[in-house]
Amino acid sequence: MDITVLTIFPEMFPGFWEHGIIRRAIEGEAISASAVNIRDYAEGRHHVTDDRPYGGGCGMVMKPEPLSAAIRAAREKHPWSRTVLLTPQGRVFDQRAARELSQLDGLIFVCGRYEGVDERIIEDYIDEEISIGDYVLTGGEIAAMAVIDAVVRLIPGVLGGEDSAGKDSFSEDLLEHAHYTRPPHFEGTPVPEVLLSGNHAKIEQWRLESGLIRTFLKRPDLLENRPQNRPQNRPLTREEIDILKRWCREIEGIIQSQTLCGADPPSGGQ
Ligand code: SAM
Repeated sequence: MDITVLTIFPEMFPGFWEHGIIRRAIEGEAISASAVNIRDYAEGRHHVTDDRPYGGGCGMVMKPEPLSAAIRAAREKHPWSRTVLLTPQGRVFDQRAARELSQLDGLIFVCGRYEGVDERIIEDYIDEEISIGDYVLTGGEIAAMAVIDAVVRLIPGVLGGEDSAGKDSFSEDLLEHAHYTRPPHFEGTPVPEVLLSGNHAKIEQWRLESGLIRTFLKRPDLLENRPQNRPQNRPLTREEIDILKRWCREIEGIIQSQTLCGADPPSGGQ
């Protein structure tokens, strides 16, 4: 995959390209990556890339001419690329979008600054608008890095173990299970015994339950009413529903036993 980032701050990127999985992906030629200075495409002695907004108001707007020239040059180099604008007004990026983008041959990311880019660029040059969440950053560079990082690790062969991305949170529409490593006891807390048992079937069962309970406690919205309210998520499996039902019964049992022991008197009671 060919990745091109168009930015007025290309110097933010070498550190990103030179570490961890991204670096490995570049060295292994799974991706090519470059950050291109939009200023190089700006006319005039000062290479100005912004201007005042028509209609008045505060802030500046990214001028269309340098942006269009930079996008055209990037497309000439990598004609098969999708051109993505990072903007808080775009579709909110998630693991599904990351998977979809990871199948493309090329991505050109346009990083906005100031109040954003001239609307005519969005209409005529942008294939897709992506937001990394409902908050406003000062520029698109960190958003581009977040998207690139999530996408590149899904390109086949980039992660060491072929399956490690397949088990991540959201891949199965659940959060991932808890992780432990050595030592077996840490500050009085042991690793769950089953993980030391060598019994792979039991370990898989434990991981499924661990992922389910974490989803229930941390992100119940991922479980609620799916797939009706979350058509992007698969329905729960029979096994997952059975686990939830079993917990239900266990919790009911705990509540029952408390009631029988006569826990707290009803509020207002003497
Ligand atoms: N005035 C714009 C608005 O309200 O929609 C916000 C502009 S923001 C200060 C400057 C740039 O940061 C944007 O053009 C975009 O490239 C980037 N940006 C800010 N928040 C973002 C987000 N949540 N996701 C992706 N890009 C973002």
